[in-house]
Amino acid sequence: MEKLGLNDIRELFLSFYQSKDHYRRQSFSLIPEKDKSLLLINSGMAPLKPYFAGLETPPSKRMTTCQKCIRTGDIENVGYTSRHGTFFEMLGSFSFGDYFKKESLTWGWEFITQVLKMPTDRLWATVYEDDDEAYGIWKDIIGIPEERIVRLGKDDNFWEIGTGPCGPCSEIYFDRGEQYGCDDPDCKPGCDCDRYVEFWNHVFTQFNRDEEGNYTDLAHPNIDTGMGIERLACIMQGVDSIFDIDTIKYILDGVVEVSGVKYESGAAPSDVSIRIITDHLRSMTFMIGDTILPGNEGREYVLRRLIRRAARHGRMLGIEGPFLSELCDRVIDASGDAYPELKTRREMIKKVVAAEEEKFASTIDQDMKIIGEYTADLEKSGDKILDGEKAFKLHDTYGFPIDLTKEIMEESGYTVDLNGFEAAMERQKKRSQVEQEMEGAGWDEATSDISLDGETEFTGYDTMVQEGVVMAILNDDGPADFCGEGSVCRIVLDKTSFYAESGGQIYDTGVMENDGFSADVTEVTKNHNVFIHKVKVTKGTVKKGDTVICKPDVPLRNMTAANHTATHLLHQALKDVLGDHVKQAGSAVTSDGLRFDFNHFQAMTGEEIAEVEAIVNDKISRFIDVTTRVMAIDDAMKEGATALFDEKYGDMVRIVSIGDYSKEFCGGTHVKNIGQIGLFKILSESGIASGVRRIEAITGQGVLKKLNDDEDVINRTAGVLKTNKDNMIDRAASISEEVKNLKKEIEELKKAEMSKSLGSIMDEAKEINGIKLITKQFDDFNINDLRALSDEIKSGNSGVAMVLAAVSGGKVTFLVSLTDDVVEKGYHAGKMIKEIAAAAGGGGGGKADMAQAGAKDPGKIADAFAKAETLL
Ligand code: ATP
Ligand code: MG
Repeated sequence: MEKLGLNDIRELFLSFYQSKDHYRRQSFSLIPEKDKSLLLINSGMAPLKPYFAGLETPPSKRMTTCQKCIRTGDIENVGYTSRHGTFFEMLGSFSFGDYFKKESLTWGWEFITQVLKMPTDRLWATVYEDDDEAYGIWKDIIGIPEERIVRLGKDDNFWEIGTGPCGPCSEIYFDRGEQYGCDDPDCKPGCDCDRYVEFWNHVFTQFNRDEEGNYTDLAHPNIDTGMGIERLACIMQGVDSIFDIDTIKYILDGVVEVSGVKYESGAAPSDVSIRIITDHLRSMTFMIGDTILPGNEGREYVLRRLIRRAARHGRMLGIEGPFLSELCDRVIDASGDAYPELKTRREMIKKVVAAEEEKFASTIDQDMKIIGEYTADLEKSGDKILDGEKAFKLHDTYGFPIDLTKEIMEESGYTVDLNGFEAAMERQKKRSQVEQEMEGAGWDEATSDISLDGETEFTGYDTMVQEGVVMAILNDDGPADFCGEGSVCRIVLDKTSFYAESGGQIYDTGVMENDGFSADVTEVTKNHNVFIHKVKVTKGTVKKGDTVICKPDVPLRNMTAANHTATHLLHQALKDVLGDHVKQAGSAVTSDGLRFDFNHFQAMTGEEIAEVEAIVNDKISRFIDVTTRVMAIDDAMKEGATALFDEKYGDMVRIVSIGDYSKEFCGGTHVKNIGQIGLFKILSESGIASGVRRIEAITGQGVLKKLNDDEDVINRTAGVLKTNKDNMIDRAASISEEVKNLKKEIEELKKAEMSKSLGSIMDEAKEINGIKLITKQFDDFNINDLRALSDEIKSGNSGVAMVLAAVSGGKVTFLVSLTDDVVEKGYHAGKMIKEIAAAAGGGGGGKADMAQAGAKDPGKIADAFAKAETLL
């Protein structure tokens, strides 16, 4: 077996699957884009869930990736086991309803035995106890001796999460040799000892599990395989721990160098610290590389905790001052070729880590002193549990992560009341939401005394008139205690019935008032769940702590609701008419109408538009109830609710259903029954980008307004036509007929006029060498008029040469026309006109009997005519 570097293994794997027609894709970001229930991507298949669930079409039915993963759940293992990191990379091959078990296992085998050249006698396979198909593939097709195929139970070899797609797995193990084994004579894969390492799991998603626990076959079974590249590298490099493989050892060496502490690869506290720092360096570098910044919540907190934990272990090793930032370079150098984002963000990564280290360094001494005091107190009282409030104070005042407190306390034999901590944390979180909101609105630290017990409660789904207490006020100068008459301020309430702009739906407007105070609410926004009302005070003064009554404008709200519910109907009707590929790409709902953008490859036809409109109106006429439910996101997805992946959803989502016709994730306000929409009318369908169409539509009273506008146009038109609406069409038709007749009359008059003047034109002709030359200028004639005139003259005369000039818009058009006998004499109109037009600064050409030319200078027409005389 050749010793391969981790970076080489990655390339071999990805190109092997590429050769099996897999679409090779760069790792997805660690930030889940399409799975709001997940904090950080933790496996190769996690970012592909929409493909597996059939919610999105994959770019190819076969795919391969090497995915960045973070598993914070493993943080306690890191440093203590040989195989866990908080960060690792997972190699994966995937089939979305394409190939199945046979290809998955045989290709897997081909890769490890022929590409990686693992000795076949050290490889074992496990299958799920009932999976005879996989067993048969291993035994008969791949040819592993039966004694090295192990059947394992559900715990080991069946993958499922609650209800939904699930299936058996087959795992591949490497036998590290007897020296790693235990005394059990029956030691084999599945045993707890270190001899057999599992390194590749092939999951066969072939069943669907329902609520009652029944398994039914999936029409299109999927394949999802996952292999931790660090563990594979251990096998390929013949080392015992992921910390000894090339890329990670390089980082570890850096830690050893900076600390000056020897690494013994053992269980000594310093060895554990070195490994923890090494691992955390990797996760922090990759997290910041994906634009995560340290903070107090969610993945930001994960990052802060990792940096501070690594910093603390650095101190435990005796490292003075910041050191992590410099060591990030090693992570970037080890992995930057495969993950170019690390290289591009190198400076940012180092700066962020340095800043966090600095913050931590500025408080750690004090923190340790406080922890020292706490432990002394506990010792005195004989208590073993640190009060949750105290742990929270450390966290809140000094930014000391709770896990660190817990770790440090545990080192001296104490525990921490985590429930108490959580409760204190929860209270603080709600406060901080308000503060964050205030920052967003330009509020500074002066508002930090505001404490809102909970977010703003929105009661507007069911209630229009709502009492709320003023929690905070902001005016132009910043935070304020009151807002007086004539001023414009922003106000946060604990409860409100005003809808804040979100999910494409516009905010409510209306009034906010109490005895002696009244204000117009002109805009409502929200950040997290804190609602901010922009108000203009029309009467009296409002102070912090006052109770006010919210009164959103009811008709505006209802019309907005009608348009919003109609948007859902439109969405489904478009799917009905155009196909299931139709996906919402954006929407805007106001009281005036709605705009809906969606993916579709071509313009809709008139018939399609009419059909969509008819479907929506048909539904409206069925008076179907609109119901809303709040439920866990997973359950909602299972029910097939339409979700927009670009939107942020929490764990709990609100589902808006219109009978069983439409079901969407939506936080907006809707009508109670679609009959309330009244009428739906599409105004336009247009393209706004390649593959994106836009429909604009109106409902209910909006249609009435449109009707009135149109009627106004009709009435004014009737006025112009001097008739009434009923006779308008007849009148318009007769006017148009009249115009046609008048035009004809004019033509005839022109002709008559022309023939009348023909006589005089002929009289004016100059006889030169036996040819009658006519030179004449006509104002406001065009070339067609000249031709008609020349035809007229030619038809009744012979021996005539005409040089006619039409002047129109400052330009001259010449026509030279010769009767046939003149042409026979050897004259050529096309040649003549060149010289004639040139005399007036122009040019042209034509045939022997007729030619035309343009010229710019009407003042030179006389010169042109003079030229003509010389040509005969
Ligand atoms: P373990 O029991 O060792 O924690 P697991 O069962 O959690 O492993 P899986 O969820 O099956 O692992 O993940 C697939 C592969 O990802 C594993 O076979 C392993 O190679 C790798 N892996 C999982 N967790 C880690 C980790 N913390 N560090 C490094 N590699 C990991
Ligand atoms: Mg695990």
